[in-house]
Amino acid sequence: MNSKEDIVKNLNSISERIKNACLKSNRNPNEVKLLLATKTVTAENIRIALNEGHRLIGENKVQELKEKYDFLINTPHENHFIGHLQSNKIKDIIKYNVTCIHSIDNIELATKLNTQLALSNKKIDILIQVNTSNEESKFGLKPEQTILFVKSISTLKNIHIKGLMTIGLFSADIPKVRICFKTLKAIQNCIIAENIPNVDMSELSMGMSHDLETAIEEGATIVRVGTAIFGQRKYPDAYYWNEKKVI
Ligand SMILES: *Cc1c(COP(=O)(O)O)cnc(C)c1O
Repeated sequence: MNSKEDIVKNLNSISERIKNACLKSNRNPNEVKLLLATKTVTAENIRIALNEGHRLIGENKVQELKEKYDFLINTPHENHFIGHLQSNKIKDIIKYNVTCIHSIDNIELATKLNTQLALSNKKIDILIQVNTSNEESKFGLKPEQTILFVKSISTLKNIHIKGLMTIGLFSADIPKVRICFKTLKAIQNCIIAENIPNVDMSELSMGMSHDLETAIEEGATIVRVGTAIFGQRKYPDAYYWNEKKVI
């Protein structure tokens, strides 16, 4: 677990990395939001980051969202949900004021979410998760399924599609990782060209601690960063990304 000093220092260096990647690709740093990926991070450490002026946090598990909620309630922030969502947790997502879910990838879930939101007279933003690396273990739609999926859920009145999300290939081979991000950008452009009513395609949530520069160069508007700020986690990421196989 990182100390307060580490977290503050790391936040500064992440902001620098984001700024430099923007400069390199002629983008305005204001176009890229930093989302703090806070799985396994204590509420205390999250608060340190929020007190440095950051606002956007994302949990992977509803349980962790619940556990930290009270502790963070008086520190201004916005909750996104970036993990795989089980339909029996939808009510909690609404109750704990999540404003955007990054990981919608099936019609049943989208429909159930819409129904629950309608009952509480609320709306939520969503991103569609695409499996751009084609790894079987990962959640997300196949790239070629995405447009049809977006069309078919675009009529649901209480969810608002705001863009796409992907987890790049976990690899040191940057050109291969880049292909994932290029794929997401290409799908975004195809969907924009379709001009689907109710669909906003402005957000691309892509890039993490090890690949955020590449993602920004390819058009990311939200980067999700955990390790490079808060330190190594004790569980492997497979625990969060591949519930089918691990544990
Ligand atoms: C954990 C996680 C991140 C952050 O990953 P780091 O490598 O720790 O920066 C981003 N996105 C999702 C969906 C995550 O689960």
